Amino acid sequence: MAGTITDIQMDGIQPFCGHYIDGRYVEDEPAFDVRRPSDGVVYASAPNADADVVDRAVRAAQAALASSGWGTCAPRDRARTLRRWADLIEADKEELGRLEAIGSTRPVSEAVAWDVPFTAEGIRFFAEFADKHGGDVAATQHDQLGLIISEPIGVVGAIVPWNFPLVMGSWKCAPAMAAGNAVVLKPSEMTPFSIMRMAELAVEAGVPAGIFNVVNGEGHSTGDALVRHEGIGKVTFTGSTRTGAAIMAACAESGIKPVTLELGGKSPQVVFADVKDLDRVADTVSRAILANAGQVCNAGSRLLLHRDVAEPMIERLVRLVAQSDAGPTWLANTNFSPIISHKQRDSIERVVTGATQAGAKVLVRGDLQNASDGGSYYAPTILDKAGSDMSVVRDEVFGPVMTVQRFDDNDEGIALANDTHYGLAAGVYTSDMSLGLRAMREIQAGTVWINRYGRTADFIIPTGGYKQSGIGKDLGRYAFESNLRYKSALIAID
Ligand code: NAD
Repeated sequence: MAGTITDIQMDGIQPFCGHYIDGRYVEDEPAFDVRRPSDGVVYASAPNADADVVDRAVRAAQAALASSGWGTCAPRDRARTLRRWADLIEADKEELGRLEAIGSTRPVSEAVAWDVPFTAEGIRFFAEFADKHGGDVAATQHDQLGLIISEPIGVVGAIVPWNFPLVMGSWKCAPAMAAGNAVVLKPSEMTPFSIMRMAELAVEAGVPAGIFNVVNGEGHSTGDALVRHEGIGKVTFTGSTRTGAAIMAACAESGIKPVTLELGGKSPQVVFADVKDLDRVADTVSRAILANAGQVCNAGSRLLLHRDVAEPMIERLVRLVAQSDAGPTWLANTNFSPIISHKQRDSIERVVTGATQAGAKVLVRGDLQNASDGGSYYAPTILDKAGSDMSVVRDEVFGPVMTVQRFDDNDEGIALANDTHYGLAAGVYTSDMSLGLRAMREIQAGTVWINRYGRTADFIIPTGGYKQSGIGKDLGRYAFESNLRYKSALIAID
């Protein structure tokens, strides 16, 4: 692959085996190999922070809060520092983008053009809240003055997944830090490196050492030690529903800590009979499952088609899905991502095989002609005749697999959309805005898109799930406010 972006990336990238604590890289024993999903090659080692390392990070965060004035300074000063951090992140987009791309599933072109600027802009969004919030003066009895005062919580423990490491990390640390907290963040053990660079840039921007710390390691050890640490005032987590439940239990067992949980999904896309532009709808529907090879929490993995438009939609989708350009993340023209690991690819394959053995029919399996040897890839797959009782319809697959179910009337379509224990997102497609709005009202999901699918750069719109897709919100005002606690003060007036 001489002459490609690959060669440049490989030469320049030497990930650090350790943590970022108290404004410094802290070396630690290599505990496991970190592989590039694109070709399976081990490109680094990562440590497994034990309870002592986690304790050191939490204490550094507490000490920084006590001595640096981060939580007590003029909020505009805090906002200015965060904006400077965002600027440094954006200026570093080539380096951060390469670091993000090499070890994750994000194609380098997208990481540089989208993930890094989106991370920076999210930090700017939350910085603006720093001095634009407050409590209330309450309607108390006349001889009392009642104040409700918002305060930072202290040290926030954040745990994030591998699928968009920088973006997911920033959605946790930016609102927490803007509200005056310190953060100890644990990235996924599969993508530990880009967030450390982000933490280093925070200190360069003037964030006091110890306000943003990164500890690396596995979930059941490092993650669990972080969640249970008595110095953590709140836990914010993004990841699978199963891990979210374990974290919620650990929060209850270790001091009744508040918790924000952004969990998995099995999001429906409902196409009603009156859609006019089938080409446009098919394009949007296919992107909702092809993006990041379906490894997106709100991937539109359940396609619900009104019988009147089912065949023309399927015909278009089969064509669109067959065209994806798979390849290693370091090639500039790759637009279809690898799967994060062989283990995850095998898990996708097991679910699909189970479905076909139970009677589901493969409508299309896309082409993987540019996939590199040793990498973990999974061809985009659409399954027809998938029953509501099948795992491929009920459980999050977290891969480029979409099932098709048909419905005969609008109520049945909405009922099918709700036939899931998840409730993260949904897309509805219709020319009748009344129907779209009714579906929006009746679908039990934290986000409903009408005639579009996926987030925009409108950070004011929160994301978060109903049912087993989570508790609380990332982004928006709600995410900022969940990093505050409220104190009531009553003052007697003589
Ligand atoms: P995961 O639950 O396996 O791991 C997520 C993080 O939790 C990792 O850092 C992991 O090390 C850590 N962890 C695992 N066990 C732990 C434990 N017992 N205690 C503390 N930490 C622990 O998820 P994943 O495979 O990394 O990510 C994919 C999942 O994330 C999918 O389910 C996806 O839907 C979800 N996700 C949700 C959103 C959202 O906004 N709702 C966004 C992105 C990803």
